[in-house]
Amino acid sequence: MIVVLRIGHRPQRDMRVTTHVGLTARALGADGMYIAAEDRGVVQSIRDVAGRFGGEFFVEDKVSWNSCIKKWKKDGGCVVHLTMFGLNLPDVEQEIRTKEKILVIVGAEKVPGDLYQMADYNVAVTNQPHSEIAGLAVFLDHISPCALHREFPGAKVRVFPNACGKTVEEL
Ligand code: SAM
Repeated sequence: MIVVLRIGHRPQRDMRVTTHVGLTARALGADGMYIAAEDRGVVQSIRDVAGRFGGEFFVEDKVSWNSCIKKWKKDGGCVVHLTMFGLNLPDVEQEIRTKEKILVIVGAEKVPGDLYQMADYNVAVTNQPHSEIAGLAVFLDHISPCALHREFPGAKVRVFPNACGKTVEEL
């Protein structure tokens, strides 16, 4: 099980990026996303996509990041914080892949300092600055067993791979 925790979300300013964090998480094999802020618009956008394109992805806002991490750890889960300052992904991915429950945390602006101590792993997708969407996508590609081959049961819309043009089936 892999769930994303989005922290530092600023409503309006981060709406698009947080929505894309959720859509990326869903598409690349995560089971859900917690948002440590209130934003019904983001929740609704991701739920709309999940409703049309299928799968069981959940989204929950108004989550306290601190309590969420503590509960996850109490339930035996592993906490991974994605940060450019962490250990490089290739050096820890084998160990992280053995974990059954992974909470992946991505920030927006500066993240709280406590987070570095609370995480079981501070992981960098290169030690260069980029974005939470890129970091999450590469992380899931390396860690999620079904990242590029996920099934989305219950879809109302299916897109067929096409060398050229668009083929979309309404189910
Ligand atoms: N100064 C912030 C920091 O402490 O990482 C950078 C904020 S960055 C715009 C937003 C988020 O993108 C970060 O909180 C982190 O989750 C993710 N991120 C950015 N670069 C990353 C990298 N090289 N590896 C992993 N995650 C990264």
